[in-house]
Amino acid sequence: MELQEIDSGFADSSRPLAIIGGGFSGTLTAIHLSRRLPATPVILFEETGVAGPGLAYQVASASARLNVPAGRMSAFQDQPDHFLQFARRCFDKASNSRDFLPRSVYGDYLKECLSEARAVNPSLRVDGRRVVDITGSDENGSARLLLDDQSTFAAALVVLATGNQDSAFASSVWASHTLPARDPRSLDRVEHGQDVLIIGSGLTMMDTVAELNRRGNVGAIHVVSRNALLPQPYAPAAILSAPDLDYLPDSNLRRSVRMFRRAIREHEAKGGDWRDLFASLRPSTPSLWQELSQKDRGRFLRFFSPFWEIHRHQCAPETHAIVLELINSGKLRIQKGTIVSVEPGENHKRLGLAARSHNEATRWLEADHILDATGPARDLESIRHPLIRNLLRRGFLKPDTHRLGAETSVDYRSIGRGGQVSKWLYVIGPMLRPRFFEATAVAELRLHAAALASKIESAVNDRMADESPNQIPIHAET
Ligand SMILES: Cc1cc2nc3c(=O)[nH]c(=O)nc-3n(C[C@H](O)[C@H](O)[C@H](O)COP(=O)(O)OP(=O)(O)OC[C@H]3O[C@@H](n4cnc5c(N)ncnc54)[C@H](O)[C@@H]3O)c2cc1C
Repeated sequence: MELQEIDSGFADSSRPLAIIGGGFSGTLTAIHLSRRLPATPVILFEETGVAGPGLAYQVASASARLNVPAGRMSAFQDQPDHFLQFARRCFDKASNSRDFLPRSVYGDYLKECLSEARAVNPSLRVDGRRVVDITGSDENGSARLLLDDQSTFAAALVVLATGNQDSAFASSVWASHTLPARDPRSLDRVEHGQDVLIIGSGLTMMDTVAELNRRGNVGAIHVVSRNALLPQPYAPAAILSAPDLDYLPDSNLRRSVRMFRRAIREHEAKGGDWRDLFASLRPSTPSLWQELSQKDRGRFLRFFSPFWEIHRHQCAPETHAIVLELINSGKLRIQKGTIVSVEPGENHKRLGLAARSHNEATRWLEADHILDATGPARDLESIRHPLIRNLLRRGFLKPDTHRLGAETSVDYRSIGRGGQVSKWLYVIGPMLRPRFFEATAVAELRLHAAALASKIESAVNDRMADESPNQIPIHAET
């Protein structure tokens, strides 16, 4: 098919910067870039047509709450009350910094941040098309985006902010017998008194149960997961002084974990809360992760990360209370196990869990609907989005050894299949996990977005200086 070249509307020397994905990460990066490079056009591609909310904050149901209180959800670290002020102005003037507000309010907040940035800087534009491929060139350092209407778009640099894609279970052979728990239409299919089986026991399951409970029509709820661990309820953490990490044995994971557990026990014995220690360790998590050997990273992921995740990523206390109440009343049962089959029955669906011993047979659970609440996939190879598949195929993107996301350099550039650091492709969002480990929540992503914009500003200025060797660059010191 003949490709149509779209004129980006800008002269060659000022080719736009393209950001693919208008969720939290892409939107924040666009805002910071348009502040830092006001004369450079920035195009934010968002396939849903609405930039800002992304997957996490586009929900309409009021039962879908943020997992973090309003006072800690500002998009800008240097303006801690920025979100709270928006909530008081546009949602409820009695909003408190400790409130767990609806996620849709946060989506509206991001839309407003973006429209304010666009009012100040008209060179920031949103494009509602889906990017399906990129043909790049590291020789001349530019990229050509292929869009879903078959047109192409030339960009000086590309930021990949495609975020949370398919669920971890979506690539399994049984996925067709399940419904995505995140999609409200799946819950619409649950009729009065029907039983539901939920795969996954993390934050997505908690949200799903809260919404089913709000609708009030569900029968029994079965939850199955590999570890059957529930996220812990949020409580404010006391501010402790940053932990002295020098005492931690270099890359000896087992001893480090033992020392951390002992520190928690001692802190609790003095009346403290385990959350205080998790909070004090959080800023150091990336450096601790980077110091671990590959072997210890693998061990951490296998043996400790399920425990780490449920303590680190806590949920709204209201949601936790609903789930506990359903467990105590016997309406919700959680089972630990490995799924060995999912089958459509005559009237029901059934799910098989691996036998726990040689004498035991497969354990079968039945329900009217099976909901997939396994959360976003981390392994790039399991993602079906054509853009990710094409970037992997072309070798512009490379999964890390532990399948947590994409390999990147210290300045957020993608590291390709051959180990080369890209001149034009940058990465932001949960795909940064292999380098930073913590790259999921707003508190980290807002820092990454600001830092990435600063790196891109330097790269653009350097390029301009290279292109006009006889001119003194604007940022040069005299
Ligand atoms: C349900 C949920 C609740 C959460 N709640 C909290 C919370 O309360 N507090 C907190 O701190 N963190 C929370 N998080 C963490 C959350 O991951 C981040 O805050 C944030 O959503 C990540 O943003 P992102 O832009 O990287 O990804 P996403 O939000 O997934 O956005 C990616 C965007 O890219 C678009 N896109 C993808 N591919 C293309 C393409 N090829 N072309 C065009 N557009 C494309 C998608 O349509 C999507 O809008 C939550 C996460 C989830 C999933």
